[in-house]
Formats: sequence, structure tokens, C-alpha cells
Amino acid sequence: MATDRPEIEIRGLHKSFGDNHVLRGIDLEVARGEVVCVIGPSGSGKSTLLRCVNLLEEPSAGRVFVGGTEVTDPDVDIDAVRRRIGMVFQQFNLFPHVDVAGNLTLPQRRVLGTDTARAAAVARENLARVGLADKTDAYPAQLSGGQQQRVAIARALSMGPEVMLFDEPTSALDPELVGEVLSVMRVLAGEGMTMMVVTHEIGFAREVADRVVFMDGGVIVEQGPAARVVGRPQQERTRNFLDRIL
Ligand code: ADP
Ligand code: MG
Repeated sequence: MATDRPEIEIRGLHKSFGDNHVLRGIDLEVARGEVVCVIGPSGSGKSTLLRCVNLLEEPSAGRVFVGGTEVTDPDVDIDAVRRRIGMVFQQFNLFPHVDVAGNLTLPQRRVLGTDTARAAAVARENLARVGLADKTDAYPAQLSGGQQQRVAIARALSMGPEVMLFDEPTSALDPELVGEVLSVMRVLAGEGMTMMVVTHEIGFAREVADRVVFMDGGVIVEQGPAARVVGRPQQERTRNFLDRIL
């Protein structure tokens, strides 16, 4: 497979829910190892955009490629595609009745068919990666929100994804717990993971993002290096948004 092809390629993407035309022609490429932060007002279509990348939502028009495979090809093996894409949500979505180790081993066994011993080893490795090696036996309810979100990230990593999508991963957290989750994401970015991150954490975007994309009304209004989009926005809509959140 050609390595110069973007890891994620979105072309002419539209998505409507009934009469609500939410995505109105999105073109976006994310290179291998690139970190793209997506910012924009509530309702601008950021979550819908991420969800179209792994077909949690079916695009109304346009094409999406991940790792060179067309996700929007009607004949695609979507389960195979989803295995290559890890997703982390605002709500952590852990299995509440299973301990932390189980949260990481069950999907590997069910989706990948990994044997028990191997799945447990991968779980340990990824819990160590997010700083939670000592929590394998805990249940989600016994953990802080920040720890739960780090488990959710470790669970996604256990599937060996090529791409990670984050949808406001720190928005449900108490302020003092945001930093530990951003730290894990910063390390992943440093390791070369390809990431799309919807976030209101402008400081994180400035520090970690290779590119910031500002969306409003279902289109990309402006994109570029964080220092430019956040530091010297060219578009009035971007300036208004940043004025409101900073
Ligand atoms: P953002 O993440 O930027 O806040 P969303 O992508 O969640 O925006 O939502 C954009 C628009 O799409 C909103 O008007 C929302 O109500 C609508 N929408 C999102 N998901 C659905 C859905 N599953 N069914 C109907 N409407 C939806
Ligand atoms: Mg959203």
C-alpha cells in the first residue's frame, strides 16, 4: 500500500437527517501520524463528521477512505474497517458489569478472536500505557471519570487501531481530571498515532495539533496550523467562536 496516501480522506461529504442538512460538503485529508483538532460551535456537525468516518452514520453523499480502503463502498467489510479505527466518546461507554481487564479483553476476544492469554497481555500493556496498570481488577464505578476515560482509550488501543477518533473526550470530566486524559492523548500523538480530535481544549490544540479545523454550519470555514487558526484567525466566524470560548 502506498504510504504517501492520506490515512483518512474525506471527499464531498454530505449528511442529512431528514430535512436537516448537517454536513454540507466536507473535504478533508489526514496524513499518517497527523493530529487534526476539529473545533466549532455546538451543532456545527463535528460529531456527525467523526461518525461518518467509521460509518456510525451513513453519509448521504461523498466518499470516505481510511487507510486507502473506501469505507463508503457498499461492498466494504465495515467490521474490518472499524477494527482499524478506535473511537473515544465524551461518555466513556465502559461495560459497567465487567472489571477493567474484562473491558479490554472482551472486545479483543469477540471482535478479533484473540485468545484469552494474548488478550490479557495486550490489556495489561495498554493499561500501563495510560498509567492504570494497578486498576485491572477495579470496576468502572470505582474509578474517577478521568480514569474511566483512560480505560476507554486503553480499550480502543487494545484493538490495534491505525487511527483514533476522539469526540470531546474531556467534556464530561471535572476540570481537575481533564489534564490526565489530555496527557495520555499527547503521548499517543507523540508516538505517531493518526488522530482526529473534536475538542474545546484550545490549549491542547495549540500544543499538540498539526492542524486545526474550524467548522460552522456543516462546512469547514478555516483550517491550518493552530498558531494561525487560533492565534490569527482569518474568518470572522472563527474569531467570534474563539472570542466566546477563550
Ligand atoms: P456537534 O457535534 O458539532 O455539536 P452534531 O454533529 O452532534 O454537532 O449535530 C449536528 C446536527 O445534526 C444537529 O442539528 C443535531 O441535532 C443533528 N443530529 C446529529 N445526530 C443526529 C441523529 N442521529 N438524528 C437526527 N439528527 C441528528
Ligand atoms: Mg458533538
